[in-house]
Amino acid sequence: MKLTIKPLKQKDAGRRLAAIDRVAAEELDLSGGDFIRVEGPSGAAIARVWPGYPEDDGSGVIRIDGKLRQEANVGIDDRVTVESVEVHTADRVTIALPQRLGVRGNVGRFIRDKLAGQPITEGQTVRIPFGFGLMGGGGQGQAVPVKIAETDPSGTVVVTDATEVTISEKPAEEIVSGSEAHGGPDGTGEGPDVTYEDIGGLDDELEQVREMIELPMRHPELFKRLGIDPPKGVLLHGPPGTGKTLIAKAVANEIDASFHTISGPEIMSKYYGESEEQLRDVFEEATEEAPAIVFMDELDSIAPKREEAGGDVERRVVAQLLSLMDGLEDRGEVVVIGATNRVDAIDPALRRGGRFDREIEVGVPDRDGRKEILQVHTRNMPLVDGIDLDEYAENTHGFVGADLESLAKESAMHALRRIRPELDLESDEIDADVLNSIQVTETDFKQAMKG
Ligand code: ADP
Repeated sequence: MKLTIKPLKQKDAGRRLAAIDRVAAEELDLSGGDFIRVEGPSGAAIARVWPGYPEDDGSGVIRIDGKLRQEANVGIDDRVTVESVEVHTADRVTIALPQRLGVRGNVGRFIRDKLAGQPITEGQTVRIPFGFGLMGGGGQGQAVPVKIAETDPSGTVVVTDATEVTISEKPAEEIVSGSEAHGGPDGTGEGPDVTYEDIGGLDDELEQVREMIELPMRHPELFKRLGIDPPKGVLLHGPPGTGKTLIAKAVANEIDASFHTISGPEIMSKYYGESEEQLRDVFEEATEEAPAIVFMDELDSIAPKREEAGGDVERRVVAQLLSLMDGLEDRGEVVVIGATNRVDAIDPALRRGGRFDREIEVGVPDRDGRKEILQVHTRNMPLVDGIDLDEYAENTHGFVGADLESLAKESAMHALRRIRPELDLESDEIDADVLNSIQVTETDFKQAMKG
């Protein structure tokens, strides 16, 4: 039986879970906790079965997160086969840490607790939420990539309470495994590591982005046969901090495209002639590294309407941009994503056919959207059981994604301040046991809300 890949819910990402339509799961005789091999045409990943979401019943859907999609080399809507696999319990696991981790003490046990129940394989990079983004790591879900250097037995194993986890003398940076040498979602290479699971409340918008950008880039032959030109430019518009940049990065990551950023204000601050040159350079680089996404942030500052401000520089930069976009081949291998919060300020010439001729509005999130965004930003936090994110989603009317991210971070800061007496401030490393004892509570959230 073939199943169709869809994104996982935000809250379940990062734990190697596969939520399978319950009807299909029954037919395949799979139940929660079983291990499966998800196999696409050119890759496979091991995951743990998770109860399917009710809305998927009978739809033949399997949901896995961006990390697993990357490993299995599949995208949304691809078809995969699923078979149950036997996974042995790990007796011993050796982990290689990044050079500057900033955690000391019983790191092995800390990692074991975080990995318990997950299937892992030698050479793999896994993300461990050390200190929920307050201390290094950064990036996707604020977790630190560590490497599985060795396992006993070998093959894919599952970590349990009885697994002995030791730390390798070699840092993760020195262990290169073939499958990950290209970098990618593990944060060790170039390119954005944002996946669709890191974006909350924008399902419809992402669906449109996928249709306009992902589909043509992944299946150019389909568009050719239908005689449709794939888009060269898509314009994302909406208030600041709503996730426009995130969307652009996530699409690039999902389709394994290189990502090139141009900041409007930055380019306008160049000396005579340099703005155009920089534009040309970025387009040239993108074409060389195709498939590529060129992301133009604050497009309105590059391209104010001619009657507005209408300076000489703007005119020349717009002309250059038009000519570069017109010069892109119709194969859809390079797509320009523009972002702006002042869509009306954009030169109409840029919004015509063949340029930024598709538009997606990225608005302020509603209550459900806010909840999903909070789930993204608390996913790796040690939240006290029973914190009701619904309540905070309800009480944050008008908050955009960036505000909700700050709220979550601020709550974590409060939790950290609470344990400050236990921290050894002389040392620049935190003890793993202290780290393990941190919990973000209701009070922390309440205080963060007060600002
Ligand atoms: P924009 O490009 O629309 O100004 P960004 O995508 O740069 O906004 O968002 C800034 C930060 O706010 C992101 O890095 C992310 O942490 C958070 N954020 C914004 N929107 C969302 C969202 N929809 N879901 C999750 N996080 C979000």
